[in-house]
Amino acid sequence: MIVEVVVDVPTMQTDRRYDYLVPERLESIIESGLRVVVPFGPRKVQGFVLAVKHESSVNKGKLKELADVLDGKPVLTQELLELGEWLTDETLCFQVSAYQAMLPAAMRTKVIKQLRLLTEVDKLPSAIRPYFQTQDAITWETLANERKEVLQHVKSALNEQLLEWTYVVEDKGRKKTERITVQLSHVNKDEGLEQIPKRAKKQRDMWLFLAEQGGRYPSLSLIEALETTRATLKGLMDKGLVKEIEEEVYRDPFLEKDVERTEPLPLTIAQQNVATPIARSIEENRHEPFLLHGVTGSGKTEIYLQAINRVLAKGKQAIVLVPEISLTPQMVHRFRSRFGSKVAVMHSGLSVGEKYDEWRKIHRREVQVVVGARSAIFAPFENLGIIIIDEEHESTYKQEEAPRYHARDVAMFRGRYHRCPVILGSATPALESYARAKKGVYTLLSLTERVNDRPMPTVEVVDMREELRGGNRSMFSEALFSKLKQRLERGEQSVLFLNRRGYSTFVMCRDCGYVATCEHCDISLTYHRSNHSLKCHYCGHEEPMPKVCKSCGSEHIRFFGSGTQKVEEELTKVLPEARVIRMDVDTTRKKGAHEQLLKQFGQGEADILLGTQMIAKGLDFPNITLVGILAADAMLHLPDFRATERTFQLLSQVSGRAGRHTLPGEVVVQTYSPDHYSIELVKQHDYLSYFETEMMYRRQGGYPPYYYLTLIHISHSQITKVIDVSEKIVRFLREQLDDRAIVLGPVVSPIARINDRYRYQCLIKYKNEPELSRILREIRQHFLQETSRGELQVNIDRQPYLFM
Ligand code: ADP
Ligand code: ZN
Ligand code: ZN
Repeated sequence: MIVEVVVDVPTMQTDRRYDYLVPERLESIIESGLRVVVPFGPRKVQGFVLAVKHESSVNKGKLKELADVLDGKPVLTQELLELGEWLTDETLCFQVSAYQAMLPAAMRTKVIKQLRLLTEVDKLPSAIRPYFQTQDAITWETLANERKEVLQHVKSALNEQLLEWTYVVEDKGRKKTERITVQLSHVNKDEGLEQIPKRAKKQRDMWLFLAEQGGRYPSLSLIEALETTRATLKGLMDKGLVKEIEEEVYRDPFLEKDVERTEPLPLTIAQQNVATPIARSIEENRHEPFLLHGVTGSGKTEIYLQAINRVLAKGKQAIVLVPEISLTPQMVHRFRSRFGSKVAVMHSGLSVGEKYDEWRKIHRREVQVVVGARSAIFAPFENLGIIIIDEEHESTYKQEEAPRYHARDVAMFRGRYHRCPVILGSATPALESYARAKKGVYTLLSLTERVNDRPMPTVEVVDMREELRGGNRSMFSEALFSKLKQRLERGEQSVLFLNRRGYSTFVMCRDCGYVATCEHCDISLTYHRSNHSLKCHYCGHEEPMPKVCKSCGSEHIRFFGSGTQKVEEELTKVLPEARVIRMDVDTTRKKGAHEQLLKQFGQGEADILLGTQMIAKGLDFPNITLVGILAADAMLHLPDFRATERTFQLLSQVSGRAGRHTLPGEVVVQTYSPDHYSIELVKQHDYLSYFETEMMYRRQGGYPPYYYLTLIHISHSQITKVIDVSEKIVRFLREQLDDRAIVLGPVVSPIARINDRYRYQCLIKYKNEPELSRILREIRQHFLQETSRGELQVNIDRQPYLFM
């Protein structure tokens, strides 16, 4: 038996399949999708079995044997194996990187492999029984020298679920097993009692208690319940009445333990019109992509929940993607209260071990629904019935490192494979998505009103230039201030949103205008109040806050800009009676802090929730009647063709937090560009006009959805090398591509240097370029092989969202 393996050595030279011989003893265990250990040069490395075969073009005598197998059940299904090939092709990544992206990080760390008994030992085939006579788990290594027949029995025991293949992952400081005391099966209650002397009262009590509990109980709780010590338990063990086993417990990622169940709401007519075509696609096992365009508060989530209900009733599974920052406890709560323990959750706030546990619940088919951030799109479900991407316009669905994939594309691949619907939901769809819906590539479903005739909030746009002219130098306009005050008087709640990007705190000299920048990157340093230092957000460089200007020596060097801390300070000055909860990276660093703060706000422990992007989405509190946006145009002028789109989307999202229930909502938007169409049209809640206007600009500028883009990034520590390579690449592209394709550059990247590496880029705009994949592959191959040790980096992004 021979296997094709892709090895975990992500380099250009090793990006191919290698054949390995399967030692006879492992033949019964091996199948494709398993992780294995193989000799590779002088080392042993991890790899994935892509295929099993009996012939190789390599001479059999030259083939090496694989060293070990790491899984008892494939971690990559046949579908995921195919998806990996597709990803490799589409995003030009190394094949092994595609597979690694599908699995939790814990699977790359060292783990102890165990075989665990799931049943009575007598039920095992006699060949493997001896191993489990005295213990419930053995390590895989114990069987290292066993004959093939024995492993065959192991495999069938695994298949029949008599044994289970588990891993012990080292996850610092968190226990993941629990000791359980178990009554040995050959003694009954009375026999046991006879063996315990009358004076050993504690032991007798414990024995009886254990018998009452059905013969098994967690040891710690047992000792606690009987107010005794371990010695008592030890006494029973010594008499051969009980044994202790270690049982695996999942790390629980939920702080909230018991979730109240909710029932499906009767759908409104508008919701029914949307739910019906989705239901049809589910019932007919048909792949159909839907774009669900529904204003904030129009009941999209309820549609998702009921569609999932249908999918579960058919015995199938569901993936729900939500952007990382809107993966709020509130959002998770809505799914858990409907589907209880059927739900796994995956997001970056979980520890490595927790993520791994959540993944394993899916792999073991213990859950049917996963709610997660981008990478949850790879959940190893085998019978998918629906994929939902909420807030589909969010750029977090694009991964900015290899494999540079967009979750939307992966969703479509999986939807086609499983013949199931894919729902893209948003109040402000990405331009590309809405354009596709208009062309009929996606089925457009619209919810134009909020549930039960609740009005959209009224939006007032305040021109901050006028405020300044009128003598108001505070960061709150008259209008916002008086409305905040009013809310305090009425006992209602407000949300204040600060656009993070507009308010980085940089340090500048008032005399000469010098701005403190990182010495390794061409980017200004950010002031951190906590330790009075300056930090680079790109390379991590840190230095103390200077006392004098490095350029002119003046002492008038200050930090500028205003973060959430500063807004908070000002709030306490002008509205001292207001109770404020601040949510930003600083206050939510601790695990569970995010959840805690929102809970406090939900319980009315504060009047104002002040925060950055992380409060823009997913919040649904009945008492919020005012939303204030402090700097609406902060990101309008970024060098990115999507800047206006992002502004419109963000403002619409934030506004959507107000008046979602019975109380009507108001929004105050503070800006220096009140006439810009992206701000004007938020006021009117008019996505369609926004779409038409933006499409006109995209057509003029030659941007998506009229053109496809590919961005090539070139970086090296020597600037001459970067320029040289960039120019060669551009020349090659111009030769190879169709005349209608536009190659822009090479130009210096907006951030010209990061970590002492100089950065250049070029952008390809094209409509139809069937050869592009091959051409890009050649570029990568050529330039990466030319230089050694990866000094030169050429990154190719087929769907760029970041132009920095
Ligand atoms: P969206 O996801 O579009 O922002 P939600 O699903 O959060 O909207 O719905 C907004 C509010 O309306 C929520 O409080 C939700 O519980 C409520 N809601 C949704 N559908 C219904 C319905 N059919 N009947 C009553 N209330 C509903
Ligand atoms: Zn730096
Ligand atoms: Zn100066």
